[in-house]
Formats: sequence, C-alpha cells, structure tokens
Amino acid sequence: MAPTGKAASGQRNGETAADAPRRTFAIISHPDAGKTTLTEKLLLFGDAIRLAGQVRARGERRRTQSDWMEMERSRGISITSSVMTFDHDGIVFNLLDTPGHEDFSEDTYRTLTAVDSAIMVIDAAKGIEAQTRKLFEVCRLRNIPIITFVNKVDREGRDPFELLDEIESGLALDVTPLMWPMGMGGQFYGVYDLQTNQLLTSDRGRGGAFSQRIQFEGPDDPKLDERIPEHILSAFRESLELALAGYPEFDPKAYRDGHMTPVIFGSALYDYAVDELLQALATHAPAPRPQPAEPTEVRPEEDRVTGFVFKVQANMDPNHRDRIAFLRLCSGRFQRGMKLRQARSGKTMAVHNPIFFFAQERELAEEAFPGDIIGIPNHGTLRVGDTLSEGAEVRFTGIPNFAPEILRRVRLDDPMRAKQLRRALEDLAEEGVTQVFRPLLGSEWIVGVVGQLQLEVLASRIAAEYKIAAGFETAPYEAARWVTAEDPAEMKRFQERHRASMAEDRDSGPVFMARNSWELNRTIQDWPKIGFHKTRERA
Ligand code: GDP
Repeated sequence: MAPTGKAASGQRNGETAADAPRRTFAIISHPDAGKTTLTEKLLLFGDAIRLAGQVRARGERRRTQSDWMEMERSRGISITSSVMTFDHDGIVFNLLDTPGHEDFSEDTYRTLTAVDSAIMVIDAAKGIEAQTRKLFEVCRLRNIPIITFVNKVDREGRDPFELLDEIESGLALDVTPLMWPMGMGGQFYGVYDLQTNQLLTSDRGRGGAFSQRIQFEGPDDPKLDERIPEHILSAFRESLELALAGYPEFDPKAYRDGHMTPVIFGSALYDYAVDELLQALATHAPAPRPQPAEPTEVRPEEDRVTGFVFKVQANMDPNHRDRIAFLRLCSGRFQRGMKLRQARSGKTMAVHNPIFFFAQERELAEEAFPGDIIGIPNHGTLRVGDTLSEGAEVRFTGIPNFAPEILRRVRLDDPMRAKQLRRALEDLAEEGVTQVFRPLLGSEWIVGVVGQLQLEVLASRIAAEYKIAAGFETAPYEAARWVTAEDPAEMKRFQERHRASMAEDRDSGPVFMARNSWELNRTIQDWPKIGFHKTRERA
C-alpha cells in the first residue's frame, strides 16, 4: 500500500495517494537537544491520526503527557529505522533519520541530499552547538529550507532575543518568530501564536501539556489581562513589541530559498507546539523539489520513474546477508514489480519487494510517489549514489564521497582471512561506514574515516558481523585526495612520479595519499594541471 492508504484516503473522500502532498524532511540538531523526543512525538501525532476515530476533530481533545507515555509504551515505538513515514491531516511525512552522535558522518551528509527541508532543533539553554552548525552548513550547500524549533522552553533557557540573534549572526540567516514565548522556565505560561493570535497554554496556568488554545484579538486584547499575571503579561508584551519591530515578517519565498528560518518555541517533552511544528511543515515546507541531475534536473511531475540511492544498510537481518538500498523517488509513479534501469551498469532490475518503513513496521510498497523513500532489498548490486530510472538517460548528481580525515592501515591477525576481510571492507564501504583504499604498491588496505567514532563502529562491525580479528595501525599517510587531469598524459606522469603514494578507491579511481599537509600543499603547487579533490562524486 501507499503511505496514505490507511488514513488519508478515508479522510480525503476517496482521493488516492497520488493526491496526498509529501513532506520529506530530516531533523538536524546537536546531541541532547531533543531530536529523539521530538521524533517520537511527531510519530505519535501521525499514529494518532492513523487510528482515526480515537482522535476526533483537531483540538477537540488534546492529549496529555501521560497519554503520550502510555501510547509509547503500548505501541513500543522506537526509533530504529532510517526512514519513518507517517500521515497527518492527509499529508504524507517522510522523516529521514540522521545519526545522532557528535562525530561527523558521511551518512548524515548523504541523507540530507534526499530531503526537501529540515527542522533544526536547538536547546533553549544552549543555542547553536557544534553539530548543529555543521549540519546546517550542509543544508546551506543545497539551499535546504529550515524551520527552527527552540526546544525545552519549559526549563530555564536563554533570552529569546539572544537565541534568535545567535541564529541570525551565527548562521547568517534571517529569522522570523512564528510564536513568542510567554515567560520561560519556572515562569512559563505558554506560547503565543503570532499568525493566529492564539495562546497555547495549559489549564493549570503553567506546567503540563498544552491543553488549551485560546483565541485573542491580538497581543493587546484586554482578555489576556484577565488570565495572565500582570508581571508576566507586561514583560511578554514588551518583548513581543521589540520582536515584531526587530525581525522581518515571515516571507515564504525567502524560507524556501533557504535564506530565512521561521522559529517556533516549544517543548518536545511536554508536547508544547509540536502540533504547530507539524502544521508549519505542512503549510510552508516545500513539496518534493526538482533534483540536480545530468543532463538536466529532474522535476517531480515528470512521468517516468526516477530515483537515487542515498543510503545502503547491510545486515539488517543478521541471518541473511541482506542489504537494503534506500531509494528516494524523484519523479513518476512507482509500482511494485516495475523494471528499473541502473545508470551505472546499464542493467535493468525488477523491483519485486520494495518496502515502506513506518514507525513500528515495514510494509510492501505497492506504489510510491516523488518524495517517498522505498527500501529495495538486494545482494550488493545497488550502491550509494546509484540512479534508477524507467529507462531514462539520467544520472543524479551531488551525492559526494568526502575526503577522510583519519587514515589507518588495516592489520589482519589471521592472514588466512584476507578474502573475508576484503568482503567486509567492501560491504562496509558500500554502506558508507568507511572508505577503502588500496595502495598501488603493497597489499594492505587503508581505511579512511572522517571521525574517530566511525573507526570504532568499523572495528566492532568487522568483529561482530564478519568474525574477523582486525586492528588499525597508524598509516604512513595523513591526507587523501582524489586526483583528476584533463590531459591523460599529465595524469600518467603524475602517477608515475608518485607511485608510492598512489592508491585506488573502490571504483579504481586514482587517489593521492600525502604523508602530511606540507607534502600535500607542495604537491598541489607543483602540479597545477592536476586537480586535487576533497570529495568525489559517486559515478
Ligand atoms: P537527542 O540526543 O537530541 O535525541 O535528545 P533526546 O530526545 O534524547 O533528549 C535529551 C534529553 O533532554 C532527554 O533527557 C529528554 O528527556 C530531555 N528533553 C527533550 N526535550 C525536552 C523538553 O522539551 N524539555 C525538557 N525539560 N527536557 C527535554
């Protein structure tokens, strides 16, 4: 079935999944900011709607914190999947998970190539942190529009102006609050929705979930004075006035172009403004966008089916050496059993068992639409960066390999296991856990990673999944660069001169390995006709 099958078709009067808008997005944040909590809440909203009947008209019965916790327990919701699809108000949301750890990960970067927008979660007490900034930079490279969720307003946080100014100056992004907090921490009364003039608050004054949404005429409405203690209200009005004067109005185009971020204040834990966040995503976030490709970009309304693989996960089921390739559909109407052509090899494959990933279950995907993510089980034919299409001569671009920052030589304790090691390294390289390089001279493998944690993951997976005892030693190299040249003769000269420093990547692409940055810079200077690249686009 298609993701909208259960909920939207009933609600939307027999319209088919094709009519349901898609929002394909990721959450970017620093560890501990609340990404997991927010994800769970978003999924619960989705599920709540899918169990139509339990939840009636919107706002009729607001769920309390304990309701949520009960639902979480009884349904065993956990976030283990790389893709989570849910429906809400007739819209299909595809949430792509980015690994949460602090280490830079290539996987995260590639996942962001498959989304149309992102939510940036910031801890109200901490502001912009290192990992958020890195992920933001990736979004900026692709002009991915961002909605900001300032989380944990139930706790003592920083001044809202300070937070907004930090986003504005730190990320060079215009900010526009969609809501304004009324007090914070112990003095927290709720958030005021600037677009609807509703105050989201709890009936107990402060604390507890937002069980009330009260309509006012505007922030000066005298009815506010009847409900809110004077000192809270006057501080709120004063700061709101400053905010309205100081920040530009929401400009949908500037947001979609990636120049402006609308800001929502809330709390994932206490379910403050999570619904509003979903609404903002539904109303403002872009539908599936055209994707960069050669010879020309692919638009979602094109008839032929196209998509690209942004992630491969091996060994999801330890009993079978299965692999799931995650395909982002970019155009056309995909149907199960369809034959798709792999651009890299020119081969055609029939996709018989495509999978949709929901919060707790997987289902066969009978049909899917642009913006959707399907998992394709395969035995290693599909790789990250692959384009699949209904016979079209097209290749998606912009899914990079990154120059590793840490290089290590792989030490194999049992030389009889060399073949298995090769297999393990190739598998894991395919998943993007590591990069592998084979020096032209010598027989040892060099692995390249971008963070220490990635090395640990690699070691433990080689041991657990392939039963190989291997270690990592310092490699005689510090930097790796992909090399290109317009003139093949020049490339040949370069390779001959640097035989001892040359290696090949998995696709036999030439890579120059430098012992240190001095040598690298020197070589770059000495060989102006050779291009040295920190990333290699997957062919
Ligand atoms: P992640 O590392 O970004 O996935 O963060 P988590 O969702 O695991 O949250 C980190 C910690 O912050 C957990 O202890 C959460 O319970 C807590 N937390 C998350 N959201 C909120 C919130 O809105 N208010 C408060 N007070 N705590 C929160």
